Amino acid sequence: MDLAHDIDGDRPSWLNSQEALDLFVLRLTRPQGRDQDTSFAEAWEAVELASLHGHLLAQTTILRHICEMLREIGRLGEALEAGQRALDICDRHEIYGEKTRILVSLAGCRIHIGDHAGAFAHLAEAESIAKVHCLRHQIAEVLVAEGAYYGRIKAAAKSLEYSLQVERDYSDTLSTPKLVNILNNIAGSLNDLRRYSEATPYIEKGLALAVGMKDELPKAFLLGNKAVLLSQTCGLDEIKSIISEVEAIAHRCGRHFVYAALMEELGVSYLESGRLPESQECLQKAKELGITYSFKSLVRTVCKHLAQSYEVSGRPAEALTELKAALEIAEDSLSHDVDAAIKNALLRQDADFAKRQSELMRKGKEEAESASKAKSEFLANISHEIRTPLNGVLGMASILLETDLKPEQREYADLIRASGDALLGVIGNVLDISKIEAGKLVLEPKELDFIELCDDVAAALAVRAHEKGVELSVLAPMNFPTLLVGDSTRIRQILVNLVGNATKFTEEGEIVVNLNWTEIASTGVRVRIEVVDSGIGIPADRQLSIFDSFTQADGSTSRRFGGSGLGLTISKKLVELMGGSIGVNSEPDKGSTFWCELLLERSTKTPRETLFQDIPTKHATLVGSNPRTLGLLSDILTASGLKVSVISDIRDARPETDIVIADMAAHNPQLAELMKQVRTELLKPRLPFLVLTPIGGRTYDFSETHLEEVQVMLKPVRRKKLRAALGELLHLEQVHAGPERRGEKPNFGGLRILVVEDNVVNQMVAETLLTSLGCQVEVAGDGKHALKRFEEKSFDFIFMDCQMPIMDGYEATRRIRQKEDRTNGTIPIVAMTANASETDREECLAAGMDDFLPKPITEAELIDSIRTNLGSRMHSF
Ligand code: ADP
Repeated sequence: MDLAHDIDGDRPSWLNSQEALDLFVLRLTRPQGRDQDTSFAEAWEAVELASLHGHLLAQTTILRHICEMLREIGRLGEALEAGQRALDICDRHEIYGEKTRILVSLAGCRIHIGDHAGAFAHLAEAESIAKVHCLRHQIAEVLVAEGAYYGRIKAAAKSLEYSLQVERDYSDTLSTPKLVNILNNIAGSLNDLRRYSEATPYIEKGLALAVGMKDELPKAFLLGNKAVLLSQTCGLDEIKSIISEVEAIAHRCGRHFVYAALMEELGVSYLESGRLPESQECLQKAKELGITYSFKSLVRTVCKHLAQSYEVSGRPAEALTELKAALEIAEDSLSHDVDAAIKNALLRQDADFAKRQSELMRKGKEEAESASKAKSEFLANISHEIRTPLNGVLGMASILLETDLKPEQREYADLIRASGDALLGVIGNVLDISKIEAGKLVLEPKELDFIELCDDVAAALAVRAHEKGVELSVLAPMNFPTLLVGDSTRIRQILVNLVGNATKFTEEGEIVVNLNWTEIASTGVRVRIEVVDSGIGIPADRQLSIFDSFTQADGSTSRRFGGSGLGLTISKKLVELMGGSIGVNSEPDKGSTFWCELLLERSTKTPRETLFQDIPTKHATLVGSNPRTLGLLSDILTASGLKVSVISDIRDARPETDIVIADMAAHNPQLAELMKQVRTELLKPRLPFLVLTPIGGRTYDFSETHLEEVQVMLKPVRRKKLRAALGELLHLEQVHAGPERRGEKPNFGGLRILVVEDNVVNQMVAETLLTSLGCQVEVAGDGKHALKRFEEKSFDFIFMDCQMPIMDGYEATRRIRQKEDRTNGTIPIVAMTANASETDREECLAAGMDDFLPKPITEAELIDSIRTNLGSRMHSF
């Protein structure tokens, strides 16, 4: 057999399918002319190859066959060892089907060393595994073995019982060779029970089935039984042809034992029926074969039978010689058996050891699982514990900032707020990463205006860029789909991280967020975001690892720029969750382009944004010096329907212009004068001006100059705000109100709000913020107190903390809902809680709350929440 060509290839062909493996094993176990040592060497080599390729089933199957081959030639210690090795693999990897087969083989070895109890214990284990796992085929195999082994220990009646049960109940699951074996067993047992006539039909049925079978051995067994059966009535000559056929098959299969065993059996049969010469001839042949092939235990029993036969024939000298030979072999094999027994005992100890080891491994696994659960719980708790006091810190800092402060005091308070914000970001990141790792982060896709989202993020992050004189703009093609469906919170998170990094690592030049898109399928789009900066760049060898947790481009980064190295990791995971990809192109000292592609659905809704109908007749003049900003503005204005002309000096404005939009990169103290001059020259005293100025730079205050029809807008330009401003300045009807402008607080005069909160600092924060919005605020320190206040007085709105002593927010809400007089509608209850996960939100809603605000709470969120949850009742305030 040639294993060599198999080794050359990547993977031996016999590992490719079960069928190939079966054939290979069959070739392996039928030596066919090869000597024994070569066969074993090849078999062991095959085990190693299977192990090398990680094919556990092949490994255990071949080991099992080695076990059986060794058992057959009486090398029982080694056989047990091979079987045990296979058993260990099965135990480690929970391979049940194969395990039952190995137990059967091991049982066979134990029968041979006379350990019957051990053998039947293996079989019982095999049977119960097969039954527990409903492996019908394996149940049948175990029953077959039980039948065969009872046969071996001459418990013919029992053997017959098992074999008949298999033939009756399981013959459909058995392969033809196995079925032939069963029929053979039945015949053998019937022979042993001297019910010869009953045996014949089973033999004939078996022989008919065996025709054309690849494996000839079962046929040899059947023929053997037939010969034994006939020996009752016929002489040796009459059954010679059958014997020769068995011999030929045994020879072809290289299994001389089969032939030798038949000769022994025939010898015994003739001895029992008193045909002594025939018995001696058969036994001599058996002995000769036994010696040639070193079947020691066979030789020993054969010698004993021979001695008996010679004794009965009155040839005591020869009988004595045979007995002596038998004794010698017995001594020899006794010591061999003792060795095997000792080895066996050691193996059993090993098996116990392996069992203990797997028990330990199981325990280890359980511990690891519970540790990871504990980690998630710990993170959730710690996040709660940190958020609560942080709410106080941030809230108080903003309240402090609203008071009269000396400049350095303002700086300190600003620092407190900025540090608190940063800490909040870190906690959020740590929580997110553990959520993602635990597979618990679920996306919540909703309708979103993608460009508006990018504009918002850019506006929020522009302060820092503008402070350094770095321009930040969002560019999108005119046909960019307005409404898409995606998880806006998570997309914002990715953008904040990429744009935030760009502002962090760029000291001069500009940052551009480029948006592009391509259509995929009928309703999907692939959006590509590129954040291009002109910052410090990233060395090539670090460009991949920065997407790993806690990794920064160089060790000194965290000291110079701060950060936890989690932002890109989270972004990458989020992008992947959305079915997209992320990457970076960068050159040190030149800048970086972080890109990501997201797969999003197109919304079926039409955008609520309407174009201004009378704009086409209007003319806008754009003044500025940065070509990219001018291009962007010109695009937006043209898309809104305006005619646009671009100039670099405000004094060049033409008389036909209806509005002047001035992009002021640097502060110009003369601006008010210039505007007046233009109005006079063009004879348009109310010509509207829109002045664009960077966030964080010196802004313009025209209140002293008495200039009307002038608006100042902070950059980066947000499309929505720009349209709103144009609408106001050009007095256009269709324009819907833009969002609240900075510094303009709504006044909810007289709105009665109950704040339920146990933390005193947070009580103060909520009370101060709400009072500054014109609300009348009452505070309750726990749920029970809140319930009492609710019964005594009427309120318009409740903000409810969740975790409180005495009665928590969930219970308080449930009770309020029970007591409510629903005819007048229900009171909005909004949770304010440091427990910020999605399940917490669900729990709040389930308790009857209307909405959920994660702490720390900002003024803007309070305003938003009151507006949304008060709904139509808003107009009365
Ligand atoms: P961190 O919180 O440290 O910024 P990130 O995961 O967001 O964590 O980024 C990891 C590292 O990648 C940063 O510390 C920095 O070294 C590098 N990096 C990210 N973005 C840029 C950029 N635009 N320019 C240069 N380096 C960057």
